[in-house]
Amino acid sequence: MGCHFEITVVAKDQVEGDRYIDMAVAEITRIEKLISEWDPTTQTSLINQNAGIKPVKVDPELFSLIERSIQISKITDGAFDISFAAMDKIWKFDGSMTRMPEEDEIKQSVAKVGYKNIILNKEDGTVFLKFPGMKIGFGAIGKGYSADKSKALLMGKGVVAGMVNASGDLNCWGKKPDGSPWLVGITNPVNKNKVFSWFPIENSAVVTSGSYENFVVFNGTRYTHIIDPRTGYPAHGLASVTIFAPNAELADALATGVFVLGTETGLNFVSQLRGVECVLVDDNGKIFYSKGIEKNTKK
Ligand code: ADP
Ligand code: MG
Repeated sequence: MGCHFEITVVAKDQVEGDRYIDMAVAEITRIEKLISEWDPTTQTSLINQNAGIKPVKVDPELFSLIERSIQISKITDGAFDISFAAMDKIWKFDGSMTRMPEEDEIKQSVAKVGYKNIILNKEDGTVFLKFPGMKIGFGAIGKGYSADKSKALLMGKGVVAGMVNASGDLNCWGKKPDGSPWLVGITNPVNKNKVFSWFPIENSAVVTSGSYENFVVFNGTRYTHIIDPRTGYPAHGLASVTIFAPNAELADALATGVFVLGTETGLNFVSQLRGVECVLVDDNGKIFYSKGIEKNTKK
């Protein structure tokens, strides 16, 4: 999945623990074979290869992941969009950019992006990308999805407690063997070594999207690797977005979406979602909490 997974399980001994971890790894590998847009043999790649040509029948699992992704596009007003994958890579965040792209170039880069042109047929179980050159990818939701699925698998096998961490997208269940809850530390993106807040989490997910590694600066503005699919401009203003949600798939997608929406709209948006909270850190290091978290910290 192009990321580092950390799997923690509570088990009676090392042998049992290793067995569970192997199961989780197998599950993650299975999901990758379904949703990767890089492996040309996956169903996701088949959808992309047939863009503008014909609908592709896919497994119900992939179908519903796409369905849920489109739902999140709808509620974020297109800030999160899996068809983002068709965007021309005009922004590079590896230090190789020497000039800001032209306005026309930026507009053109998102011409093939638009979740409304992903056509789902529930009866046939098919997915059709309306225009040639369209593409979907799960870069901003797949890690969370894998964390959720491996957690569900382990719970189904009777594992009483554990945590799946996909490069910072994590989902946990149960409690630590000493009876205390799992703790998640949120680091300050401005100072990576400093945890500014610890949160106990129980049977829920936390995802952080940060932009301190992948960005480029033009005229004093820091542009991040998360791009607004509606305009082609990289998101700016926020340094990190942490989302607390019942599952990691939702948290992952919302972290990306809120990054694009920005501080004010993002906070407003999160306050309308039940069971979802957030911590935002802006470019100046200022921290914003959603209402539910504020209440907790005042207690
Ligand atoms: P990270 O864990 O790297 O902070 P995210 O979960 O936010 O990242 O996903 C970032 C990846 O998602 C990008 O590398 C890109 O592939 C894809 N992406 C970027 N912007 C969007 C967007 N607005 N909607 C959907 N996917 C996006
Ligand atoms: Mg994400």
